[in-house]
This record gives sequence, C-alpha cells and structure tokens, in this order.
Amino acid sequence: MAEIRLEGITKVFDKKVRAVDDVDLTVADQEFMVLLGPSGCGKTTLMRMIAGLEYPEHGRVLIGGRDVTDLPPRKRRIAMVFQSYAVFPHLTVFENIAFGLRMQRTPKAEVTRRVEGAADLVQLTPYLGRYSAQLSGGQRQRVAVARAIVMNPAVLLMDEPLSNLDALLRLTFRAELKRLVAELKTTTIYVTHDQVEAMSLGDRVAVMREGKVVQVGTPMAVYDRPATQFVGSFIGSPPMNFLRGRTERENGYARVHLGAEALTIPALPARTDGEVLVGIRAENVVAEATPTPGAIAARTEVVEPLGSHLLVTAIVGDQRLKIQARTDFPAQPDTPLWLRPEPDKLRWYDPATGQEIAAG
Ligand code: ATP
Repeated sequence: MAEIRLEGITKVFDKKVRAVDDVDLTVADQEFMVLLGPSGCGKTTLMRMIAGLEYPEHGRVLIGGRDVTDLPPRKRRIAMVFQSYAVFPHLTVFENIAFGLRMQRTPKAEVTRRVEGAADLVQLTPYLGRYSAQLSGGQRQRVAVARAIVMNPAVLLMDEPLSNLDALLRLTFRAELKRLVAELKTTTIYVTHDQVEAMSLGDRVAVMREGKVVQVGTPMAVYDRPATQFVGSFIGSPPMNFLRGRTERENGYARVHLGAEALTIPALPARTDGEVLVGIRAENVVAEATPTPGAIAARTEVVEPLGSHLLVTAIVGDQRLKIQARTDFPAQPDTPLWLRPEPDKLRWYDPATGQEIAAG
C-alpha cells in the first residue's frame, strides 16, 4: 500500500515566495496523479517535498500511512525521473540501470535479473550493451525510467520527463509510459504544464495555481466541469469560452442575456440572478447558417480549417467565442451565423471570483 497523503503542505522561499500554499492532496495506492499548472505555480516544489529534497514549513507528508516528513529521500522508497535524463554517458545502458542496485550492494544475479526485467519493460533489451552516449534522447529517457523502476519503488515521481523529446517522440513515449505505469501498478505523481499530456496520462489531475491546488478530478470531469474560470481557460484547446451575461427568470422561463441577444434555457442554477460568466466549450455550440429557433445571432470573424473540423471565431454583440463547426459548414468571414449552445453544457461562474456557481 502506498497511498500518498499531503496535509497542509506549505513552502515559503526567502521568507516571501509562497511556492506551495497549504496543499491537501491524497493520491490513492496505484493511482497515476498528474500535477498540472503554469510555470511557477509550485508543481516541482510540491514534488520535491514528497521526495524529501525540500523541507516544508508546515504540514506533513505521509506515504503508505507512515509520516515521512522528517525522513531523508533514501528512506522514502521513492524513485524519480527528471526532465534532464541524467544518465551517465560513460556507462552502458545495463550499468546505468543497475546503478542504484549496485549502490545497495544487491547480489550480482539479482542485479542481472532485475535490470533485464526493467529493460524489457521499457523495450531497451537490444541496447543493454551500448554506452548511453550512443543513444537517442528518447532512448536515454527510457534508461532513466528503467533506472527508476528497477528499484521497485513504492512511489514513482516524474517531473516533465517528456519535455526534452521532439513532438513525435513525445506522442509515442506518452502512450508507452501510460502502458508501463499501468503494468507496474506503482503509485505515480507526474508533473507537467502540458494539459494534453495531463489529460492523456492521469487517472486524476490536480490543477495548481499560485501554490494552491484549485481542482482535483478525472481528466474528463476537470474538462467538462472546471471549478474555476482559470481551470476552464487552462485546460482544453481552444480554452473554454467565457461570456459576460445577465440571467433572468420570467413567467417560468429562464433566460441569459448576452448583450442584445438572449438565450432561453430550461433552467438556471439556483444562485444565478444577475451578472454571470457563462462558460461553454467550442464543441458544445451548434453553428447554423440560417436563423433557427433558440439560436442567437452572431457574426463570423475568422475561419480556421483544422482538417477534422473548422474552428470559427464568432462575435456576439461585443464578445468573441470560438466554436467548432463541421468542415462542410459554409463559414465566411464577416457573414452572419446563428449559434445554439447545448443547454446542459452551459457552466456558470461568478464574474467577481471566477468560481463556478453550484447548481441548486
Ligand atoms: P515550472 O513548470 O516552470 O518548473 P513549477 O510549477 O514547477 O514551475 P516551482 O519550480 O515549484 O514551479 O516554483 C514555484 C515558485 O517558487 C516560483 O515562483 C519559483 O521562482 C520559486 N522557487 C522555486 N525554487 C526556489 C528556490 N530554491 N529559491 C527561491 N525561490 C524558489
């Protein structure tokens, strides 16, 4: 059992930078948790505290129910993989993977058995005799992963391990990593600022901003129901649209006014009477070339053909939003179109705080 529990973890640098601010987070045994957030939000610092490379001002780190806050890294049964592969160029792949086991004076036969097992998992068996200076970036990163997993850690920590690889390799290695971690069943925490990577890999994603965890959930839940405007903007490409609106209830109708246009919808969340931010994803708005009941009038500003669909920037009143349209949709810049947002995909946010307004 290697559940990881963080309780009220805080790290302040130089008495003023609150790199990590009162974070509570539980990662279940065998779970793959991704820490996602923009540069400088505290992801690496949080991970370093789990590893024992950084000491928290406040709070506790528990691994497998044991308080490890005061333990050095080597006593925590963790293994780390960093962005820089940090493999030794003058050693063979075999010796690189064997390094930690040798430090622990593991018997020779066991070293061979475990190194070969780890190499097989990351598909490096044919390269065991090569010097790592003769490997590609992707192969070196596999060596780094094998070196971590060969130690049979209770917890695997990875800090942007794919970011030094070229785009195509990232894509292949991402899927490989997902298979590998699923096979290993090791509790894993993975740091990235790449939301696609986070969505594709994580069982759950913890979104961070300015030292705080702002939302934890499955990739689909975080995408579909962002807890804040920040999360909706950070996850998804394009980001979620946020439109200023005013809600109104009248004779059993619920309406949201977007400038001169108004949408009639089945229901509003309980607390939305007045100014709101309406969140809607590009793929949840149906575009029509002619006026349709229930659709609002808009103008096409930009049309971007993306192969599988068109990305259309539309203007409603003085507000812009991006929508997805089928490739055969007759979109032309500076022509009218009509938009029908799917009512059950509308999300509601408080314009003052950016927090989601709960359904009531
Ligand atoms: P990135 O994606 O750019 O690596 P991050 O989310 O991992 O960013 P951290 O590296 O954890 O962010 O940094 C969080 C904040 O703490 C930043 O403002 C950073 O400048 C600051 N910080 C990190 N390490 C130190 C340090 N050793 N001394 C002082 N400030 C630090």
